[in-house]
This record gives sequence, C-alpha cells and structure tokens, in this order.
Amino acid sequence: MRSTTALRTQSVAAIPLLLLLATPLTTHAQTPGPGDQLPPWTPGTLDIHHIATGEGNATFFVLPDGTTMLVDAGAAVAGRAPLAPPVPDDGRRAGQHIAAYVRRMMPAGREPAIDYAVITHFHGDHMGFVSDASPRSRRGDYRLAGITDVADAVPVHELIDRGWPDYDYPAPVPNIENYRQFIAERMKAGDLTVARFQPGRTDQLRLLRNAPEYPTFQVRNLAANGEVWTGSGTATRRVFPPLEALAKDDWPNENICSIAFLLRYGAFSYFTGGDQEGVPPDGFPAWQNVETPIAAAIGHPVDVVVVDHHGSIEPANAFFLRTLRPRVDVIPAWSTTHPAPVVLKRLLNQRIYEGPRDIFVLEFRDATKAAIGPRATQVASDHGHVVVRVAPGGASYMVYVLDDKSDTYAILSVHGPYASGAGSPH
Ligand SMILES: [Zn+2]
Repeated sequence: MRSTTALRTQSVAAIPLLLLLATPLTTHAQTPGPGDQLPPWTPGTLDIHHIATGEGNATFFVLPDGTTMLVDAGAAVAGRAPLAPPVPDDGRRAGQHIAAYVRRMMPAGREPAIDYAVITHFHGDHMGFVSDASPRSRRGDYRLAGITDVADAVPVHELIDRGWPDYDYPAPVPNIENYRQFIAERMKAGDLTVARFQPGRTDQLRLLRNAPEYPTFQVRNLAANGEVWTGSGTATRRVFPPLEALAKDDWPNENICSIAFLLRYGAFSYFTGGDQEGVPPDGFPAWQNVETPIAAAIGHPVDVVVVDHHGSIEPANAFFLRTLRPRVDVIPAWSTTHPAPVVLKRLLNQRIYEGPRDIFVLEFRDATKAAIGPRATQVASDHGHVVVRVAPGGASYMVYVLDDKSDTYAILSVHGPYASGAGSPH
C-alpha cells in the first residue's frame, strides 16, 4: 500500500503552496517551477527523459551512478506515417534533436557518451527509417537516420537489440542493411560492441561506474522475440508457438517481438516495452497478447509505465493495467493515431483499478483530441519532453514536462512528488 498523501498534479498557481507541502515528503527541497531550467543531475538521482521529437520513441536515462542509456532513437519518415511537426521545427533531423538532448542532459563533467543503446525493435520510429534522402555518414559507408545519426554525434559504447547477430527471426528483418553496415564499421573501428537482449537476466543492463553504491538498482530483462521471463529466477518461457506450427500469416509481427524491461531503484519501478501488444485484433491468435504474460511475471504494481505501442490500438489490456496499476503513464505519442480513444479510456478506467493516475502524452495531436472528445482533456500534459526524476534511493519521484519547441528545455509544468512503492493504491 502506497502513501495516500502523494500530491496530485500541480497547477501552476498552486505551486508555492505545494512546495511547502512537498518539503517534508521528499528530498526535492528546491523544486523548480515553470520557466525554470531542470536542475542538473546529481549522483544517486535517476533521470528518465522521454524525448519528444514528433517522429518516434527516444528515452534517455541517466542512472544513479552516471551510467547512460538510450532506449530507441526513432526517426520515422513523412509519407509513411502521419508525422507530427518536427520539434523544434528548425530543419534538423530527429537523430540530431536526440543527440542535442543527450548532450544537454549528460552528467556534468562527463564527455557525452551513451553507455547502452537499446533498440526495442526494428521499425523506423524506434531505430530510424533510412531512405535515399538520408545523408551519408562521414565515418563510414552507411546513412544517417535515428540510431546511426545519434551515434555519429554521441559515441555509443554498447548496442543491444533483439536480433544480433543474425537478424533473421522470425524471418530476415527487412530494411536492416544500413544498420548492419553501421555495426560492422563501428565494430571494425573498435568503438562499439553489440549484444542480443536476453530475457530473464538482471546483469545485462547494469551500473557501470559505481554499482556497489546503489545495490537496490536493477534492470530485469522481461521479454524479446516471444521469450518472456517467468517471474522466477532468470527463467523464461516461449509464448510464441514454433514457426513451423504456424501459418505464415500468423507469424509474430515486429511489434510483439519488442524488447521489454522493468527497472527498479529502491521502492521505485518503471516499465517499458516498445510496441508490445495486449489486445490482439479479432480473429488473431491469443498468444499475440504478450502483455499478459509480462504482467503476470511482474506480478505487482509499477509506479511509471510507458504505454506500449504509443497507445495505439492494441496495448494496455485490462489485466496488464490491473496488475501494474500505474500511478504515472507516459504515452510516447507522435501520430494522429496515438493514443487510440479506447486505450485512453482504459487508462482512465477506475473499474480496472481505482485510484489517481497522471497521464503524460509527448505529442497529443489536435486531430486526435478532436476525435477523442472531452476525455482528451483528462491528461496531465499534452506536449513536451517528459522527465521522470527519481530521488536518491528511489523513495519518491517527480515528473517535469519540458518545452519541446525550442532548445531551451524550459520547464512547462511540475508534477509530484509521488511516493514510490506501489503504483496506484489498492
Ligand atoms: Zn512504434
């Protein structure tokens, strides 16, 4: 049971009063307000930056000991998807925006570098869509889009994905050649290592700089390629049938092969799962619901949940929500189809689980709001980078929404403090 004293989302006018109230609950003694800059990361703090680029997912983590991680580096392409206007709209590519953000939010005094880059799955809005218009790298024979664009600007030390080294499950991955060429050249140069994400483990994504100081920090690998942690030890099971038992039309799609993990830091917990799905469309096999075995393995409330698949049609099933009971949802939306009306309705549904919850949408398009109607106003924020800042030790956290329309990264709104420990109360 979590504290029921957690403060609700602050309106701008209420901040001075809430600052007073907030002081005894957390160590965030000097909470900044709208218009301020986010104070620099300090050792022991966990920062999770959900970067709004209007073209896909990109989440930058500064872990408690200063280890850095980027999960996805999306750069979708106009014409293939209804993109949001680029943010900021200054002609730079999404990968350049991501790299600029990473440089800005790096721990003070450390040369910008990404210790881990995790690509949840091989779609353009997560890894970068490469076309003939994508510029060529000056560092090798590959083009710049998404992760390759970021990595040319900020060194990436280890790349972790679902396909290394063969990229052939369930079939040869389409449009992977540029990515493989990038890997080959960076490995040959000796500045990149690559690994396949291994479900069940807790030692693949780890603190690299001062782990003994933060023993309660852990990343549990939950799922990839239909292999899902069981909830016991490091054991996993396959939830996809063998390919030979399936009609080709029923083979797993790219989304449900996504990497998912659970991060814990003291009492705090955080889930992210790429474009996983939990509500297979009518007529599709039930095993294509991967959220249910993932939620069963987790088996407890989770404070902050990144809504799978941008909140589009198939994620966030009732069992998943009832199990994880998120206090904070982050919807990495960029398209007009994000979130789907039915998904937002489920996220808000007090009959699935009771209690307060705050929903942060990275780019909630006007057309989408118009289609959803009044329910669209029940979100905590409708645009901007969403920063979850977890206090040293993990007992509480804040959410800051930052301006995504310029490089000032000024704070637009402040939410919390939230007490960690059990998602929304039972
Ligand atoms: Zn996606």
